[in-house]
Amino acid sequence: MLQDIEPYLACPHCARPLTLDGRTLRCPGGHSHDLAKQGYVSLLAGDAHIGTGDTADMVAARGDFLAAGHYRPIADALAEAAVEAVAVAVAVAVAVADADAGAADCGDGPGVDGPGALVADLGAGTGHYLAHVLDALPGRPGAALDISKYALRRAARAHPRIGAVVCDAWRPLPLLDASAGLVLNVFAPRNGPEIRRVLRPGGTLLLVSPTSRHLRELVDALGLLSVDEEKQRRIDEKLGPYLTPAGRREVEFTMRLSAEDVRTVVGMGPSAWHTDPARLAERLAALPDPVEVTASVTVAAYRR
Ligand SMILES: [Zn+2]
Repeated sequence: MLQDIEPYLACPHCARPLTLDGRTLRCPGGHSHDLAKQGYVSLLAGDAHIGTGDTADMVAARGDFLAAGHYRPIADALAEAAVEAVAVAVAVAVAVADADAGAADCGDGPGVDGPGALVADLGAGTGHYLAHVLDALPGRPGAALDISKYALRRAARAHPRIGAVVCDAWRPLPLLDASAGLVLNVFAPRNGPEIRRVLRPGGTLLLVSPTSRHLRELVDALGLLSVDEEKQRRIDEKLGPYLTPAGRREVEFTMRLSAEDVRTVVGMGPSAWHTDPARLAERLAALPDPVEVTASVTVAAYRR
């Protein structure tokens, strides 16, 4: 619920803290933001527009695909990495507290309702991955951030501890400085300076990105855009000034997809915007049904 993440939210106009007053978030500067009846709140800055997000149909298809469990090994690997990242943060906090005899705990322990407890998912979509991670981290609130209000209607219901916020990943995020212990970014836009700003010192970004082998059978058969082999290096370069690489794992498995699943998975990627629809439909019809398709991603950790 939005109440769970209220202490971490910042006004998109003046960056000051927001407090919930009934069904309205207010800042000390007099800006107010009403909750939608579906449970999410829009914290877009004035001139941003909401039309660039996913449509209701795309969101529904994606939600069904994820709910069917095709990407389950990715969600499992992400949850595992999240548990490890939190354990490292707790160990660091304990070490700092020991060295600093008597210093107050920094509040990043499991289940502690401190400022480091927030898990923020940037480009959360329907909240599928965030809900999976929150199940593995009892007591932590989760902020689902996305530009699509259709996706966030689902995210707001995906887990009792999720609060859903419409925002633009390329603008300042509507979160207070050092508010998140963990940031998730799954097949989504990355804003290095903002991720660093919202992470606590010692906090971790977990980034899921496709390898060059991801969906390779479909890339070949359908003429989709492929992921080049340099992608991971480019991500590291872009994040380098803000965060330090802290380990990675590759997750690769085979999916059996129906023709409907294939249409959905094609629509989930950037190829949807670069392929001639008539030619794509023709090539889709020529595929076996079901078809075996490789899923291949990197789960990379970066620490502030
Ligand atoms: Zn304000």
